[in-house]
Amino acid sequence: MEEMTERFYREPYCREFQAVVTACEKRKNGWAVALDDTAFYPEGGGQPADHGVLDDVNVLDVHRRDGVIWHETDGPLEEGKTVSGKIDWERRFRHMQNHTGEHIVSGLIHQKTGYDNVGFHMGKEIQIDFNGPMSAEQIREVELEANRIIMNNTPVQETFPSAEELAVTDYRSKKELSGKVRLISIPGADLCACCGTHVKTAGEVGLVKILGFEKHKDGVRIFMKAGLDALEEVIAVYDENHKISAELSAEMQKTHAAVVRLKQENEDRKRALYAMTVRYLDTVVDAVEDGAPLVICAEEDIERTLLGKLAERLLEEKHARVAAVLNRTGEDRFTYLICSRSVDLRPYAKTLNSALNGRGGGKPEYIQGSFAAPLDAIRAELEKVFG
Ligand SMILES: [Zn+2]
Repeated sequence: MEEMTERFYREPYCREFQAVVTACEKRKNGWAVALDDTAFYPEGGGQPADHGVLDDVNVLDVHRRDGVIWHETDGPLEEGKTVSGKIDWERRFRHMQNHTGEHIVSGLIHQKTGYDNVGFHMGKEIQIDFNGPMSAEQIREVELEANRIIMNNTPVQETFPSAEELAVTDYRSKKELSGKVRLISIPGADLCACCGTHVKTAGEVGLVKILGFEKHKDGVRIFMKAGLDALEEVIAVYDENHKISAELSAEMQKTHAAVVRLKQENEDRKRALYAMTVRYLDTVVDAVEDGAPLVICAEEDIERTLLGKLAERLLEEKHARVAAVLNRTGEDRFTYLICSRSVDLRPYAKTLNSALNGRGGGKPEYIQGSFAAPLDAIRAELEKVFG
């Protein structure tokens, strides 16, 4: 059972405070400082720790161990000294917005479906797992409803009910609680036991944006942002869509259809190019003499599978003893595929690679790789080896 009595911090809007240093211990990376009181929120309940300063040292992390809140700092502080603490308010306020936004969304989902929030993570975005499936429409409905709660500026209240009151109250909680329990209520949205930090009214959350969702176990995992984080996300995505819209000469809300069209056109062109290349290779094969000891075809921009087919046809239809298919990939750079039905090609790979700055190898019936040499030099070397 989780004891909540000790887990309250000062009023969540307290950004600056004074406290006495009760312990300062050297740690592997810096120091750990304990105070007789603190407004720093230690990592917990899925909410990240506060950052800030204590006098002139930086607080890089805060966590609770054995009932003591330790501030990890980059410098030591004298025990018994009164120090001034200052919280990185920008960071903390974003956490409060996200955390309160998560309450609204989890509470609404619980209200509508009875599902519980069974996993929670607050990193670059908030990730919440619910123990039942939801449709895209249901999730969209929750998103709209959450923002209505925000626009109504519904108050976020904390109460400390007695054990008797608690026994008859229906509230969300991840753990069985004892001692003094703090309930956070957002009328119409949520009632939840929580020791995190919250904004005073839903309006301060500003905005809730669901970023996406996926099936997770038997339920659903929802990704969201709230507050300034959500606004920044919307701005970034809007700007990106604006660029796509300009690039495709499509209206902002019709970029998807334009991309689908573009993809289709691309597919059609690829198919046409493939057919054209096949017809071109027919002429290449037709021009080859039958039964030659060595046939070299030097091509450019030909798809890999078609290069294989070309080599195959040179052996099959033109009875070449050795077929060498080159494909230019840059200045004095070629890929090679050399095939034969009668010659074991493996020993030749080494000779060719060392003469032509190449790499690669293969099997008795084919070797492949790349050469970094001019075409004339490649032709001359192939003639020397196989001609
Ligand atoms: Zn909370």
